[in-house]
Amino acid sequence: MRIGIGYDVHKLVTGRKLVLGGVVIPFEKGLLGHSDADVLVHAVCDALLGAAAMGDIGLHFPATDPRFKNISSMKLLAATNAMVHCNGFTIRNIDTTIFAEAPKIGPYRKRMQQKLARTVEVDPGCINIKATTTEGLGFIGKGEGIGAMSVALLEKG
Ligand code: MG
Repeated sequence: MRIGIGYDVHKLVTGRKLVLGGVVIPFEKGLLGHSDADVLVHAVCDALLGAAAMGDIGLHFPATDPRFKNISSMKLLAATNAMVHCNGFTIRNIDTTIFAEAPKIGPYRKRMQQKLARTVEVDPGCINIKATTTEGLGFIGKGEGIGAMSVALLEKG
């Protein structure tokens, strides 16, 4: 068994769609980034790459590469899943936490779980999504950005 962690933060700005876990969430702001800036999916990619000892998302999908401009991060996750499988790993489970003062994540949790599960080809019961505020503290508490963490457990073979 191999464990990996992933962590990511993106800035909230006006004029962008908010995409979390592959789900578009109606909100007054969206996350800024080269891709669709899906901070949850980026953390999951890094957890998978970490468990497989395959570097990080910036190594495989550099923000300087025009191919990844505004790309759906679910495509990056699908590519990450394929790389991890090519290296002989099976995903056992993925756990995540989203850090956001707003919006409320609860209504979208199940759809995110299903989308992530489908993309990494596991049972939805192998994916968990948690969310918390930071009690108004720091840049997340002030609504300046959203963060996400993930851990992934892989098995060789
Ligand atoms: Mg990112």
